Amino acid sequence: MKKLKGIPVSPGIAKGKAIVLHGEDTFSPPLQVVTDSDIPREIARFEDALTRTRAEILGIRKKISAQIGREHSDIFNAHLLILEDRTLIEDVIAAIKEKKSTAEYAFSIVVQSYFKAFSQIDDEYLRERVSDIKDIGRRLLKNLYGEQKTDLENLEQNVIVIAHDLSPSDTAMMNKDKVLAFVTDIGGPTSHTAILGRSLEIPAVVGMEGVTTEVKTGDEVIVDGTHGILIVNPDEATIEEYFREEKRFTDLTTELDKLKDLPAETKDGHRITLAANIEFHDEIPSVFSHGAEGIGLYRTEYFYLNRVDLPTEEEQYQAYKQVAEKIAPHSVIVRTLDLGGDKFVSSLELPHEMNPFLGWRAIRFCLTRVDVFKIQLRAILRASKHGNLKVMYPMISSFQELKRANEILTECRKELDKEKIPYDHKMEIGAMIEIPSAALTSDILAKEVSFFSIGTNDLIQYALAVDRVNEKIAYLYEPTHPAILKLIKLVIDNAHAKKLWVGSCGEMSGDAAIALLLLGLGIDEISTSPVVIPKVKKIIRSITYKEAQEIAKHAMTLTSGQEIIEFLNAKVREIAKELID
Ligand code: PEP
Ligand code: MG
Repeated sequence: MKKLKGIPVSPGIAKGKAIVLHGEDTFSPPLQVVTDSDIPREIARFEDALTRTRAEILGIRKKISAQIGREHSDIFNAHLLILEDRTLIEDVIAAIKEKKSTAEYAFSIVVQSYFKAFSQIDDEYLRERVSDIKDIGRRLLKNLYGEQKTDLENLEQNVIVIAHDLSPSDTAMMNKDKVLAFVTDIGGPTSHTAILGRSLEIPAVVGMEGVTTEVKTGDEVIVDGTHGILIVNPDEATIEEYFREEKRFTDLTTELDKLKDLPAETKDGHRITLAANIEFHDEIPSVFSHGAEGIGLYRTEYFYLNRVDLPTEEEQYQAYKQVAEKIAPHSVIVRTLDLGGDKFVSSLELPHEMNPFLGWRAIRFCLTRVDVFKIQLRAILRASKHGNLKVMYPMISSFQELKRANEILTECRKELDKEKIPYDHKMEIGAMIEIPSAALTSDILAKEVSFFSIGTNDLIQYALAVDRVNEKIAYLYEPTHPAILKLIKLVIDNAHAKKLWVGSCGEMSGDAAIALLLLGLGIDEISTSPVVIPKVKKIIRSITYKEAQEIAKHAMTLTSGQEIIEFLNAKVREIAKELID
Protein backbone atom coordinates (compact mmCIF):
# COMPACT_ATOMS: atom_id res chain seq x y z
CA MET A 1 0.00 0.00 0.00
CA LYS A 2 1.26 3.47 -0.92
CA LYS A 3 -0.16 6.88 0.00
CA LEU A 4 0.43 9.99 -2.13
CA LYS A 5 -0.59 13.59 -1.47
CA GLY A 6 -1.63 16.33 -3.87
CA ILE A 7 -3.89 19.39 -4.00
CA PRO A 8 -7.55 18.55 -3.31
CA VAL A 9 -9.75 20.20 -5.93
CA SER A 10 -13.01 18.30 -6.11
CA PRO A 11 -14.47 16.57 -3.06
CA GLY A 12 -15.60 12.98 -2.65
CA ILE A 13 -14.20 9.47 -2.51
CA ALA A 14 -13.77 7.00 -5.38
CA LYS A 15 -12.32 3.54 -5.58
CA GLY A 16 -11.44 1.70 -8.77
CA LYS A 17 -8.86 0.60 -11.30
CA ALA A 18 -6.32 3.13 -12.45
CA ILE A 19 -5.60 3.96 -16.03
CA VAL A 20 -2.34 5.85 -16.46
CA LEU A 21 -2.07 8.25 -19.36
CA HIS A 22 1.34 9.52 -20.23
CA GLY A 23 1.58 13.13 -21.31
CA GLU A 24 4.30 15.48 -22.54
CA ASP A 25 6.76 14.08 -20.04
CA THR A 26 6.72 10.78 -21.93
CA PHE A 27 9.21 12.40 -24.28
CA SER A 28 11.79 11.77 -21.59
CA PRO A 29 11.26 8.19 -20.39
CA PRO A 30 14.05 6.80 -18.20
CA LEU A 31 16.84 5.05 -20.13
CA GLN A 32 16.09 1.36 -20.28
CA VAL A 33 19.03 -0.69 -21.47
CA VAL A 34 18.33 -3.82 -23.47
CA THR A 35 20.61 -6.69 -24.39
CA ASP A 36 22.12 -7.12 -27.88
CA SER A 37 19.69 -9.89 -28.66
CA ASP A 38 16.72 -7.60 -27.81
CA ILE A 39 17.70 -4.95 -30.37
CA PRO A 40 15.85 -6.53 -33.33
CA ARG A 41 12.74 -6.79 -31.14
CA GLU A 42 12.91 -3.08 -30.21
CA ILE A 43 13.32 -2.14 -33.90
CA ALA A 44 10.33 -4.29 -34.78
CA ARG A 45 8.28 -2.67 -31.99
CA PHE A 46 9.17 0.76 -33.36
CA GLU A 47 8.20 -0.23 -36.91
CA ASP A 48 4.98 -1.74 -35.68
CA ALA A 49 4.13 1.49 -33.81
CA LEU A 50 4.85 3.47 -37.00
CA THR A 51 2.42 1.30 -38.96
CA ARG A 52 -0.28 1.56 -36.34
CA THR A 53 0.11 5.32 -35.99
CA ARG A 54 -0.08 5.71 -39.76
CA ALA A 55 -3.28 3.67 -39.87
CA GLU A 56 -4.77 5.83 -37.11
CA ILE A 57 -3.94 9.07 -38.91
CA LEU A 58 -5.39 7.77 -42.17
CA GLY A 59 -8.56 6.87 -40.26
CA ILE A 60 -8.83 10.32 -38.68
CA ARG A 61 -8.16 12.00 -42.03
CA LYS A 62 -10.95 10.03 -43.62
CA LYS A 63 -13.36 10.82 -40.80
CA ILE A 64 -12.62 14.55 -40.85
CA SER A 65 -12.85 14.62 -44.62
CA ALA A 66 -16.29 12.99 -44.53
CA GLN A 67 -17.55 15.14 -41.66
CA ILE A 68 -16.22 18.59 -42.47
CA GLY A 69 -14.61 18.47 -45.86
CA ARG A 70 -11.47 17.52 -47.67
CA GLU A 71 -9.62 20.81 -47.17
CA HIS A 72 -9.76 20.42 -43.38
CA SER A 73 -8.37 16.91 -43.49
CA ASP A 74 -5.28 18.06 -45.35
CA ILE A 75 -3.57 19.13 -42.14
CA PHE A 76 -3.04 15.45 -41.41
CA ASN A 77 -0.88 15.15 -44.49
CA ALA A 78 1.86 16.93 -42.56
CA HIS A 79 1.56 14.27 -39.86
CA LEU A 80 1.86 11.48 -42.41
CA LEU A 81 4.95 13.09 -43.91
CA ILE A 82 6.66 13.13 -40.52
CA LEU A 83 5.86 9.45 -40.01
CA GLU A 84 7.33 8.60 -43.40
CA ASP A 85 10.47 10.67 -42.91
CA ARG A 86 13.37 8.33 -43.63
CA THR A 87 15.89 10.40 -41.65
CA LEU A 88 13.74 10.24 -38.55
CA ILE A 89 13.18 6.51 -38.89
CA GLU A 90 16.86 5.83 -39.46
CA ASP A 91 17.90 8.10 -36.57
CA VAL A 92 15.65 6.17 -34.20
CA ILE A 93 16.91 2.78 -35.37
CA ALA A 94 20.50 4.00 -35.03
CA ALA A 95 19.77 5.24 -31.49
CA ILE A 96 18.28 1.86 -30.50
CA LYS A 97 21.45 0.12 -31.72
CA GLU A 98 23.97 2.62 -30.38
CA LYS A 99 22.49 3.20 -26.97
CA LYS A 100 21.15 -0.35 -26.63
CA SER A 101 17.89 1.24 -25.50
CA THR A 102 14.19 0.61 -25.75
CA ALA A 103 12.32 1.99 -28.75
CA GLU A 104 10.52 4.49 -26.44
CA TYR A 105 13.79 5.94 -25.22
CA ALA A 106 15.42 6.08 -28.64
CA PHE A 107 12.37 7.71 -30.21
CA SER A 108 12.16 10.28 -27.40
CA ILE A 109 15.74 11.47 -27.70
CA VAL A 110 15.50 11.75 -31.47
CA VAL A 111 12.22 13.67 -31.29
CA GLN A 112 13.65 15.96 -28.64
CA SER A 113 16.62 16.80 -30.84
CA TYR A 114 14.11 17.64 -33.61
CA PHE A 115 12.16 19.95 -31.25
CA LYS A 116 15.36 21.74 -30.40
CA ALA A 117 16.42 22.11 -34.01
CA PHE A 118 12.99 23.32 -35.16
CA SER A 119 12.49 25.81 -32.35
CA GLN A 120 15.76 27.52 -33.26
CA ILE A 121 14.84 27.95 -36.92
CA ASP A 122 14.25 31.53 -37.97
CA ASP A 123 11.04 30.76 -39.81
CA GLU A 124 7.72 30.98 -38.02
CA TYR A 125 6.01 28.42 -40.22
CA LEU A 126 8.68 25.81 -39.61
CA ARG A 127 8.84 26.63 -35.92
CA GLU A 128 5.16 25.94 -35.62
CA ARG A 129 5.66 22.46 -37.11
CA VAL A 130 6.98 21.55 -33.65
CA SER A 131 3.41 21.10 -32.52
CA ASP A 132 2.81 18.64 -35.40
CA ILE A 133 5.87 16.64 -34.38
CA LYS A 134 4.72 16.72 -30.77
CA ASP A 135 1.27 15.51 -31.70
CA ILE A 136 2.48 12.72 -33.86
CA GLY A 137 5.21 11.84 -31.38
CA ARG A 138 2.71 11.52 -28.55
CA ARG A 139 0.51 9.27 -30.67
CA LEU A 140 3.42 7.07 -31.63
CA LEU A 141 4.60 6.77 -28.04
CA LYS A 142 1.09 5.87 -26.96
CA ASN A 143 1.20 3.04 -29.46
CA LEU A 144 4.62 1.97 -28.23
CA TYR A 145 3.40 1.95 -24.65
CA GLY A 146 0.50 -0.17 -25.85
CA GLU A 147 -2.09 2.33 -24.66
CA GLN A 148 -4.15 2.41 -27.80
CA LYS A 149 -7.15 1.15 -25.88
CA THR A 150 -6.94 3.83 -23.25
CA ASP A 151 -8.33 6.58 -25.37
CA LEU A 152 -10.43 8.77 -23.11
CA GLU A 153 -13.20 8.85 -25.66
CA ASN A 154 -13.53 5.08 -25.89
CA LEU A 155 -13.37 4.01 -22.26
CA GLU A 156 -15.20 0.75 -21.85
CA GLN A 157 -15.21 0.34 -18.11
CA ASN A 158 -15.19 2.57 -15.06
CA VAL A 159 -11.73 3.92 -14.38
CA ILE A 160 -9.75 6.37 -12.32
CA VAL A 161 -7.73 8.49 -14.71
CA ILE A 162 -4.15 9.22 -13.70
CA ALA A 163 -2.48 11.65 -16.08
CA HIS A 164 0.40 14.05 -16.31
CA ASP A 165 -2.14 16.74 -17.16
CA LEU A 166 -5.52 16.75 -18.86
CA SER A 167 -5.83 19.31 -21.60
CA PRO A 168 -9.21 20.98 -22.12
CA SER A 169 -9.52 19.05 -25.37
CA ASP A 170 -8.79 15.72 -23.64
CA THR A 171 -11.43 16.42 -21.07
CA ALA A 172 -13.98 17.74 -23.52
CA MET A 173 -13.94 14.47 -25.48
CA MET A 174 -13.63 12.18 -22.46
CA ASN A 175 -16.42 9.67 -21.90
CA LYS A 176 -17.42 11.30 -18.64
CA ASP A 177 -19.76 8.50 -17.50
CA LYS A 178 -16.86 6.11 -17.14
CA VAL A 179 -14.47 8.30 -15.20
CA LEU A 180 -14.81 7.85 -11.42
CA ALA A 181 -12.07 10.32 -10.46
CA PHE A 182 -8.90 11.86 -11.77
CA VAL A 183 -5.49 12.73 -10.47
CA THR A 184 -2.75 14.67 -12.27
CA ASP A 185 0.98 15.24 -11.81
CA ILE A 186 0.69 18.97 -12.37
CA GLY A 187 -1.87 21.76 -12.02
CA GLY A 188 -3.01 24.20 -9.36
CA PRO A 189 -6.31 24.68 -7.51
CA THR A 190 -7.96 26.73 -10.24
CA SER A 191 -6.52 25.06 -13.33
CA HIS A 192 -9.11 23.99 -15.89
CA THR A 193 -8.54 20.38 -14.79
CA ALA A 194 -9.59 21.29 -11.26
CA ILE A 195 -12.63 23.21 -12.46
CA LEU A 196 -13.63 20.30 -14.61
CA GLY A 197 -13.45 17.85 -11.70
CA ARG A 198 -15.93 19.95 -9.81
CA SER A 199 -18.17 20.49 -12.78
CA LEU A 200 -18.33 16.75 -13.42
CA GLU A 201 -18.89 16.17 -9.71
CA ILE A 202 -16.15 13.61 -9.50
CA PRO A 203 -13.34 13.55 -6.95
CA ALA A 204 -10.16 15.12 -8.30
CA VAL A 205 -6.66 15.82 -7.06
CA VAL A 206 -4.06 17.84 -8.98
CA GLY A 207 -0.38 18.67 -8.45
CA MET A 208 0.44 15.15 -7.24
CA GLU A 209 4.00 15.14 -8.50
CA GLY A 210 5.18 11.78 -9.80
CA VAL A 211 1.78 10.09 -9.69
CA THR A 212 2.11 8.83 -13.28
CA THR A 213 5.28 6.96 -12.39
CA GLU A 214 4.13 5.72 -8.97
CA VAL A 215 0.87 4.22 -10.27
CA LYS A 216 0.58 1.57 -12.99
CA THR A 217 -2.42 0.93 -15.21
CA GLY A 218 -4.55 -1.72 -13.52
CA ASP A 219 -3.57 -0.79 -9.94
CA GLU A 220 -6.46 -0.64 -7.48
CA VAL A 221 -6.61 2.92 -6.09
CA ILE A 222 -8.68 5.07 -3.75
CA VAL A 223 -8.94 8.81 -4.47
CA ASP A 224 -9.92 11.13 -1.66
CA GLY A 225 -10.72 14.38 -3.43
CA THR A 226 -11.63 16.14 -0.18
CA HIS A 227 -8.16 15.76 1.33
CA GLY A 228 -6.07 15.35 -1.82
CA ILE A 229 -4.97 11.77 -1.13
CA LEU A 230 -4.39 8.78 -3.40
CA ILE A 231 -3.90 5.30 -1.99
CA VAL A 232 -2.41 2.63 -4.23
CA ASN A 233 -3.38 -1.00 -3.61
CA PRO A 234 -5.14 -0.28 -0.29
CA ASP A 235 -5.45 -2.97 2.42
CA GLU A 236 -8.80 -4.11 3.82
CA ALA A 237 -8.74 -1.79 6.85
CA THR A 238 -8.10 1.26 4.63
CA ILE A 239 -10.89 0.27 2.25
CA GLU A 240 -13.27 0.02 5.24
CA GLU A 241 -12.17 3.41 6.54
CA TYR A 242 -12.74 5.07 3.17
CA PHE A 243 -16.04 3.34 2.75
CA ARG A 244 -17.20 5.05 5.98
CA GLU A 245 -15.78 8.37 4.76
CA GLU A 246 -17.64 8.02 1.47
CA LYS A 247 -20.89 7.42 3.33
CA ARG A 248 -20.32 10.47 5.50
CA PHE A 249 -19.75 12.54 2.35
CA THR A 250 -22.85 11.32 0.55
CA ASP A 251 -25.00 11.74 3.69
CA LEU A 252 -23.87 15.36 4.02
CA THR A 253 -24.51 16.01 0.31
CA THR A 254 -28.01 14.52 0.54
CA GLU A 255 -28.75 16.55 3.66
CA LEU A 256 -27.58 19.80 2.10
CA ASP A 257 -29.43 19.20 -1.15
CA LYS A 258 -32.64 19.53 0.88
CA LEU A 259 -31.99 23.29 0.83
CA LYS A 260 -32.40 23.19 -2.93
CA ASP A 261 -35.63 25.15 -3.17
CA LEU A 262 -34.85 27.68 -0.45
CA PRO A 263 -33.36 31.09 -1.19
CA ALA A 264 -29.79 32.11 -0.33
CA GLU A 265 -31.03 34.40 2.41
CA THR A 266 -29.55 35.29 5.79
CA LYS A 267 -31.49 34.85 9.03
CA ASP A 268 -32.38 38.56 8.99
CA GLY A 269 -33.65 38.50 5.42
CA HIS A 270 -30.69 39.73 3.34
CA ARG A 271 -30.85 37.85 0.07
CA ILE A 272 -28.16 37.28 -2.51
CA THR A 273 -28.21 35.32 -5.76
CA LEU A 274 -26.50 31.96 -5.74
CA ALA A 275 -25.74 30.92 -9.30
CA ALA A 276 -23.74 28.21 -11.04
CA ASN A 277 -20.66 28.15 -13.27
CA ILE A 278 -20.91 25.84 -16.24
CA GLU A 279 -18.85 24.94 -19.27
CA PHE A 280 -20.89 22.16 -20.87
CA HIS A 281 -24.59 21.81 -21.62
CA ASP A 282 -24.77 18.49 -19.85
CA GLU A 283 -24.16 20.30 -16.56
CA ILE A 284 -27.56 22.02 -16.72
CA PRO A 285 -29.38 19.27 -14.76
CA SER A 286 -26.95 19.72 -11.87
CA VAL A 287 -27.63 23.48 -11.90
CA PHE A 288 -31.21 22.58 -11.00
CA SER A 289 -30.52 19.63 -8.71
CA HIS A 290 -28.26 21.69 -6.46
CA GLY A 291 -30.64 24.65 -6.37
CA ALA A 292 -28.72 27.33 -8.25
CA GLU A 293 -30.61 30.42 -9.33
CA GLY A 294 -29.35 30.70 -12.85
CA ILE A 295 -25.89 30.68 -14.37
CA GLY A 296 -23.42 33.31 -13.25
CA LEU A 297 -20.63 32.17 -15.56
CA TYR A 298 -21.09 30.29 -18.79
CA ARG A 299 -17.58 29.58 -20.10
CA THR A 300 -17.82 29.44 -23.90
CA GLU A 301 -14.26 28.36 -24.78
CA TYR A 302 -15.30 24.73 -25.01
CA PHE A 303 -17.22 25.39 -28.22
CA TYR A 304 -13.97 26.15 -29.92
CA LEU A 305 -12.14 22.99 -28.87
CA ASN A 306 -11.57 19.67 -30.65
CA ARG A 307 -12.40 20.95 -34.07
CA VAL A 308 -10.61 22.16 -37.12
CA ASP A 309 -13.02 25.01 -37.87
CA LEU A 310 -14.56 27.81 -35.83
CA PRO A 311 -18.12 27.57 -34.50
CA THR A 312 -20.57 29.44 -36.70
CA GLU A 313 -23.00 32.12 -35.58
CA GLU A 314 -25.92 29.76 -36.08
CA GLU A 315 -24.33 26.97 -34.06
CA GLN A 316 -23.55 29.30 -31.17
CA TYR A 317 -26.98 30.93 -31.38
CA GLN A 318 -28.67 27.53 -31.05
CA ALA A 319 -26.50 26.62 -28.05
CA TYR A 320 -27.03 29.91 -26.19
CA LYS A 321 -30.73 29.86 -27.02
CA GLN A 322 -31.11 26.40 -25.53
CA VAL A 323 -29.39 27.37 -22.30
CA ALA A 324 -31.38 30.62 -22.08
CA GLU A 325 -34.66 28.76 -22.54
CA LYS A 326 -33.82 26.06 -20.03
CA ILE A 327 -32.67 28.45 -17.32
CA ALA A 328 -35.37 31.16 -17.78
CA PRO A 329 -36.70 33.03 -15.87
CA HIS A 330 -33.32 32.97 -14.16
CA SER A 331 -30.48 34.64 -15.93
CA VAL A 332 -27.49 33.23 -17.79
CA ILE A 333 -24.30 35.27 -17.96
CA VAL A 334 -22.48 34.32 -21.13
CA ARG A 335 -18.80 35.12 -20.99
CA THR A 336 -17.26 35.89 -24.34
CA LEU A 337 -14.36 33.81 -25.58
CA ASP A 338 -11.62 33.58 -22.96
CA LEU A 339 -9.01 31.59 -24.76
CA GLY A 340 -5.36 31.56 -23.82
CA GLY A 341 -3.65 30.90 -20.52
CA ASP A 342 -4.34 27.22 -19.94
CA LYS A 343 -7.20 27.16 -22.46
CA PHE A 344 -6.04 26.66 -26.02
CA VAL A 345 -8.19 26.50 -29.07
CA SER A 346 -7.33 23.94 -31.67
CA SER A 347 -8.97 25.72 -34.60
CA LEU A 348 -6.97 28.92 -34.18
CA GLU A 349 -3.29 28.81 -34.93
CA LEU A 350 -1.91 30.87 -32.12
CA PRO A 351 1.73 31.77 -31.76
CA HIS A 352 3.71 30.18 -28.99
CA GLU A 353 4.18 32.72 -26.21
CA MET A 354 6.67 32.94 -23.36
CA ASN A 355 4.00 34.03 -20.87
CA PRO A 356 0.63 32.83 -22.14
CA PHE A 357 -1.26 34.08 -19.08
CA LEU A 358 0.04 37.58 -19.80
CA GLY A 359 -0.26 37.28 -23.52
CA TRP A 360 -2.56 37.69 -26.46
CA ARG A 361 -5.62 36.16 -24.90
CA ALA A 362 -9.33 36.62 -24.09
CA ILE A 363 -10.63 40.12 -24.87
CA ARG A 364 -7.20 41.10 -26.25
CA PHE A 365 -7.55 38.41 -28.86
CA CYS A 366 -11.20 39.31 -29.57
CA LEU A 367 -10.41 42.99 -30.06
CA THR A 368 -7.91 42.13 -32.80
CA ARG A 369 -9.86 39.23 -34.29
CA VAL A 370 -13.06 41.28 -34.50
CA ASP A 371 -14.40 38.80 -37.07
CA VAL A 372 -14.37 35.97 -34.51
CA PHE A 373 -15.68 38.27 -31.76
CA LYS A 374 -18.59 39.59 -33.81
CA ILE A 375 -19.82 36.11 -34.69
CA GLN A 376 -20.07 35.31 -31.00
CA LEU A 377 -21.65 38.65 -30.04
CA ARG A 378 -24.28 38.36 -32.77
CA ALA A 379 -25.11 34.84 -31.60
CA ILE A 380 -25.46 36.01 -27.98
CA LEU A 381 -27.62 38.98 -28.99
CA ARG A 382 -29.91 36.81 -31.11
CA ALA A 383 -30.26 34.26 -28.30
CA SER A 384 -31.07 37.02 -25.80
CA LYS A 385 -34.67 37.19 -26.92
CA HIS A 386 -35.26 33.60 -25.80
CA GLY A 387 -34.66 34.13 -22.10
CA ASN A 388 -32.72 36.24 -19.68
CA LEU A 389 -29.20 36.50 -21.10
CA LYS A 390 -26.43 38.79 -19.97
CA VAL A 391 -23.01 39.12 -21.53
CA MET A 392 -19.64 39.80 -19.94
CA TYR A 393 -16.12 40.33 -21.19
CA PRO A 394 -13.14 38.52 -19.67
CA MET A 395 -9.69 39.95 -18.89
CA ILE A 396 -10.59 43.60 -19.09
CA SER A 397 -7.54 45.62 -18.07
CA SER A 398 -8.50 49.15 -19.06
CA PHE A 399 -11.37 51.50 -19.83
CA GLN A 400 -10.35 51.72 -23.50
CA GLU A 401 -10.67 47.96 -23.93
CA LEU A 402 -14.09 47.90 -22.34
CA LYS A 403 -15.24 50.84 -24.43
CA ARG A 404 -13.98 49.20 -27.62
CA ALA A 405 -15.73 45.93 -26.77
CA ASN A 406 -18.97 47.83 -26.25
CA GLU A 407 -18.51 49.67 -29.57
CA ILE A 408 -18.23 46.32 -31.34
CA LEU A 409 -21.35 45.12 -29.54
CA THR A 410 -23.15 48.27 -30.72
CA GLU A 411 -22.02 47.56 -34.30
CA CYS A 412 -23.52 44.08 -34.00
CA ARG A 413 -26.78 45.53 -32.70
CA LYS A 414 -26.95 47.92 -35.65
CA GLU A 415 -26.32 45.09 -38.08
CA LEU A 416 -29.11 43.05 -36.53
CA ASP A 417 -31.45 46.06 -36.62
CA LYS A 418 -30.70 46.48 -40.29
CA GLU A 419 -31.32 42.80 -40.92
CA LYS A 420 -34.52 43.03 -38.85
CA ILE A 421 -33.36 40.27 -36.55
CA PRO A 422 -34.84 40.59 -33.06
CA TYR A 423 -32.83 40.64 -29.83
CA ASP A 424 -33.20 41.90 -26.27
CA HIS A 425 -32.38 45.61 -26.46
CA LYS A 426 -31.98 45.76 -22.69
CA MET A 427 -29.52 42.89 -22.34
CA GLU A 428 -27.22 43.66 -19.42
CA ILE A 429 -23.50 44.02 -20.05
CA GLY A 430 -20.83 43.31 -17.50
CA ALA A 431 -17.07 43.27 -17.12
CA MET A 432 -15.07 40.63 -15.39
CA ILE A 433 -12.75 42.09 -12.81
CA GLU A 434 -9.83 39.71 -12.76
CA ILE A 435 -6.85 41.96 -13.33
CA PRO A 436 -5.63 44.28 -10.56
CA SER A 437 -5.70 47.30 -12.91
CA ALA A 438 -9.41 46.69 -13.50
CA ALA A 439 -10.10 46.34 -9.79
CA LEU A 440 -8.23 49.56 -9.04
CA THR A 441 -10.08 51.47 -11.77
CA SER A 442 -13.46 49.84 -11.25
CA ASP A 443 -14.96 53.26 -10.48
CA ILE A 444 -14.05 54.29 -14.06
CA LEU A 445 -15.08 50.98 -15.68
CA ALA A 446 -18.48 51.32 -14.01
CA LYS A 447 -19.42 53.93 -16.63
CA GLU A 448 -19.61 51.31 -19.39
CA VAL A 449 -21.44 48.40 -17.72
CA SER A 450 -24.28 47.48 -15.40
CA PHE A 451 -22.48 44.80 -13.40
CA PHE A 452 -19.10 43.42 -12.45
CA SER A 453 -18.16 39.82 -11.94
CA ILE A 454 -15.01 39.35 -9.90
CA GLY A 455 -12.96 36.51 -11.37
CA THR A 456 -10.87 35.60 -8.37
CA ASN A 457 -9.08 32.70 -10.08
CA ASP A 458 -7.17 35.16 -12.21
CA LEU A 459 -7.31 38.11 -9.83
CA ILE A 460 -5.32 36.08 -7.29
CA GLN A 461 -2.77 34.95 -9.88
CA TYR A 462 -2.20 38.45 -11.20
CA ALA A 463 -2.28 40.28 -7.87
CA LEU A 464 0.04 37.85 -6.09
CA ALA A 465 2.16 36.96 -9.15
CA VAL A 466 1.41 33.26 -8.68
CA ASP A 467 0.80 31.10 -11.75
CA ARG A 468 -2.54 29.46 -11.03
CA VAL A 469 -1.60 26.16 -12.67
CA ASN A 470 1.84 25.69 -11.13
CA GLU A 471 1.69 23.16 -8.30
CA LYS A 472 5.15 24.15 -7.05
CA ILE A 473 3.97 27.54 -5.90
CA ALA A 474 0.41 26.55 -5.03
CA TYR A 475 1.18 27.36 -1.38
CA LEU A 476 1.47 31.03 -2.39
CA TYR A 477 -1.93 31.03 -4.10
CA GLU A 478 -3.82 32.47 -1.16
CA PRO A 479 -7.44 33.51 -1.74
CA THR A 480 -7.51 35.22 1.64
CA HIS A 481 -4.30 37.21 1.20
CA PRO A 482 -5.06 40.70 2.64
CA ALA A 483 -4.29 42.18 -0.80
CA ILE A 484 -7.10 40.14 -2.34
CA LEU A 485 -9.56 41.16 0.36
CA LYS A 486 -8.69 44.81 -0.23
CA LEU A 487 -9.16 44.51 -3.99
CA ILE A 488 -12.50 42.73 -3.60
CA LYS A 489 -13.77 45.27 -1.10
CA LEU A 490 -12.72 48.12 -3.37
CA VAL A 491 -14.59 46.62 -6.34
CA ILE A 492 -17.75 46.02 -4.31
CA ASP A 493 -17.69 49.52 -2.82
CA ASN A 494 -17.01 51.18 -6.19
CA ALA A 495 -19.77 49.15 -7.84
CA HIS A 496 -22.31 50.01 -5.18
CA ALA A 497 -21.36 53.67 -5.21
CA LYS A 498 -22.20 53.69 -8.94
CA LYS A 499 -25.38 51.63 -8.46
CA LEU A 500 -23.98 48.52 -10.14
CA TRP A 501 -24.44 45.03 -8.80
CA VAL A 502 -21.44 42.81 -8.32
CA GLY A 503 -20.90 39.08 -8.34
CA SER A 504 -18.01 36.75 -7.74
CA CYS A 505 -17.43 33.79 -10.03
CA GLY A 506 -14.02 32.43 -9.07
CA GLU A 507 -13.53 29.04 -7.48
CA MET A 508 -12.79 30.45 -4.04
CA SER A 509 -16.41 31.42 -3.45
CA GLY A 510 -17.33 27.72 -3.32
CA ASP A 511 -15.57 27.49 0.03
CA ALA A 512 -18.09 28.12 2.83
CA ALA A 513 -15.61 30.21 4.83
CA ILE A 514 -14.89 32.49 1.90
CA ALA A 515 -18.53 32.74 0.89
CA LEU A 516 -19.14 34.03 4.41
CA LEU A 517 -16.48 36.68 3.88
CA LEU A 518 -17.89 37.72 0.48
CA LEU A 519 -21.37 37.97 1.94
CA GLY A 520 -20.05 40.22 4.70
CA LEU A 521 -18.20 42.39 2.19
CA GLY A 522 -21.52 43.03 0.42
CA ILE A 523 -21.39 40.78 -2.64
CA ASP A 524 -24.71 40.56 -4.53
CA GLU A 525 -24.19 37.28 -6.34
CA ILE A 526 -21.99 34.25 -5.83
CA SER A 527 -21.50 31.94 -8.77
CA THR A 528 -19.63 28.70 -8.31
CA SER A 529 -19.55 25.01 -9.28
CA PRO A 530 -23.04 23.52 -8.83
CA VAL A 531 -21.75 20.79 -6.51
CA VAL A 532 -20.67 23.23 -3.79
CA ILE A 533 -23.74 25.46 -3.96
CA PRO A 534 -25.62 23.66 -1.14
CA LYS A 535 -22.70 24.27 1.25
CA VAL A 536 -22.61 27.95 0.39
CA LYS A 537 -26.36 28.21 0.79
CA LYS A 538 -26.18 26.51 4.17
CA ILE A 539 -23.68 29.01 5.55
CA ILE A 540 -25.64 31.99 4.23
CA ARG A 541 -28.85 30.69 5.81
CA SER A 542 -27.13 30.08 9.15
CA ILE A 543 -26.10 33.65 9.92
CA THR A 544 -27.45 37.22 10.02
CA TYR A 545 -26.15 39.78 7.55
CA LYS A 546 -25.00 41.93 10.44
CA GLU A 547 -22.89 39.08 11.84
CA ALA A 548 -21.39 38.40 8.42
CA GLN A 549 -20.50 42.09 8.05
CA GLU A 550 -18.76 42.04 11.42
CA ILE A 551 -16.82 38.92 10.49
CA ALA A 552 -15.68 40.54 7.23
CA LYS A 553 -14.74 43.72 9.04
CA HIS A 554 -12.62 41.81 11.50
CA ALA A 555 -11.01 39.71 8.73
CA MET A 556 -9.91 42.95 7.06
CA THR A 557 -7.89 43.87 10.16
CA LEU A 558 -5.82 40.64 10.14
CA THR A 559 -2.34 40.46 8.72
CA SER A 560 -1.95 37.26 6.71
CA GLY A 561 -3.88 34.91 4.45
CA GLN A 562 -3.32 32.10 6.91
CA GLU A 563 -4.63 34.09 9.85
CA ILE A 564 -7.69 35.16 7.88
CA ILE A 565 -8.64 31.67 6.67
CA GLU A 566 -8.16 30.24 10.16
CA PHE A 567 -10.40 32.94 11.60
CA LEU A 568 -13.07 32.31 8.95
CA ASN A 569 -12.91 28.53 9.35
CA ALA A 570 -13.34 28.93 13.10
CA LYS A 571 -16.46 31.01 12.44
CA VAL A 572 -17.87 28.37 10.09
CA ARG A 573 -17.16 25.71 12.72
CA GLU A 574 -19.20 27.77 15.24
CA ILE A 575 -22.05 28.40 12.83
CA ALA A 576 -22.36 25.14 10.84
CA LYS A 577 -19.86 22.61 12.16
CA GLU A 578 -20.76 19.92 9.62
CA LEU A 579 -19.36 22.05 6.78
CA ILE A 580 -15.83 21.90 8.14
CA ASP A 581 -14.16 18.60 7.62
C1 PEP B 1 -11.69 33.60 -12.96
O1 PEP B 1 -10.64 33.96 -13.48
O2 PEP B 1 -11.94 33.73 -11.74
C2 PEP B 1 -12.74 32.97 -13.76
C3 PEP B 1 -13.91 32.72 -13.23
O3 PEP B 1 -12.48 32.62 -15.05
P1 PEP B 1 -11.56 31.40 -15.54
O4 PEP B 1 -11.36 30.47 -14.36
O5 PEP B 1 -12.30 30.76 -16.65
O6 PEP B 1 -10.32 32.09 -15.94
MG1 MG C 1 -10.42 34.18 -15.59
